[in-house]
Amino acid sequence: MRPLRRQDVVGRPRWWNGRIYLDNVRLMRVGKAELTPVLELEAGLVPVAGLCHGWDPAQVEAHAEWLYPRHVDPVTGMARLSHHSWLLRTGDFTLLVDPCIGNSKSRALPPNEYYDMLDTPWLDRLAAAGTHPDEIDLVVCTHLHPDHCGWNTRLVDGRWNPTFPNARYVLSAPEVSFWDAFARAPDRFPEFAYNRGVFEDSVAPVLEAGLVELLDDGDSPAPGVTLLATPGHTAGHWSACYADDLDGVCFSGDVLHSPVHVLRPEWTLSPSPGANFDHQAAAASRRAVLDHCATTGHLLAPAHFQTPHACRIAHSTDGRYLLSWPTEI
Ligand SMILES: [Zn+2]
Repeated sequence: MRPLRRQDVVGRPRWWNGRIYLDNVRLMRVGKAELTPVLELEAGLVPVAGLCHGWDPAQVEAHAEWLYPRHVDPVTGMARLSHHSWLLRTGDFTLLVDPCIGNSKSRALPPNEYYDMLDTPWLDRLAAAGTHPDEIDLVVCTHLHPDHCGWNTRLVDGRWNPTFPNARYVLSAPEVSFWDAFARAPDRFPEFAYNRGVFEDSVAPVLEAGLVELLDDGDSPAPGVTLLATPGHTAGHWSACYADDLDGVCFSGDVLHSPVHVLRPEWTLSPSPGANFDHQAAAASRRAVLDHCATTGHLLAPAHFQTPHACRIAHSTDGRYLLSWPTEI
């Protein structure tokens, strides 16, 4: 692995005590565990109108102070989406959730053109967060879209090899079965053309290496970790919840894409085919995750919220949800 270079760093690097200190490495405490987002892309721009169907800026104006322009640019109507993985170190095991897009992957089809043939220092950022790929014990993909399983593998001598050779890759059985069927007959699902090649280069190699454990709703792949089926965005989407006796976190993948979805969960993705596998199920899963976090007080850690990337949820008196951001350490 090459050493970290100044230009690799998202945010403002600072030198401190002879070591590089990264503004983008944010540590959060979850009970006895330590949580770090590992960034790949910081500024994916998506039209809010497509992400939040029915979007009305006037209805979220009360939140403009923190929402604009970090999460949403109200002038251009674009949402700013981060792409990051989550690293959780409990002391007993190291969990990586949603290994981003990956390098050298052919993703030329819309709407994912900006995922095509990336060359980012994501592995260096993982190292900057204090973890070598060999030290990952468990990889969980919330679903198998290209931006949630890409670093499952990396290109070595022309072959896609598992990036985390000592990990168990925990995948959703219904999700694998759907994309396996898609890979065998992609023409049957033209609306999911953007996912062509993902199963072949990012899932099949870890299956062939014998590293995959196929699980389902309610299963627990490690102490304190529970898998919660949250289907809708994809057929077998799930969320991974971790808790100890002090606190917890719910890694919710793409159940929500933007904090606007916390404020107005009914603003779904564009109803066009391919945006969600099942819009009704996606809406139910969103409320289930928000209710889970509001009831338990656990941190909500989605895959695309801008910095600081995770938040707390509470029920508000008018039947909606409130959100607050954690203090970073
Ligand atoms: Zn995503």
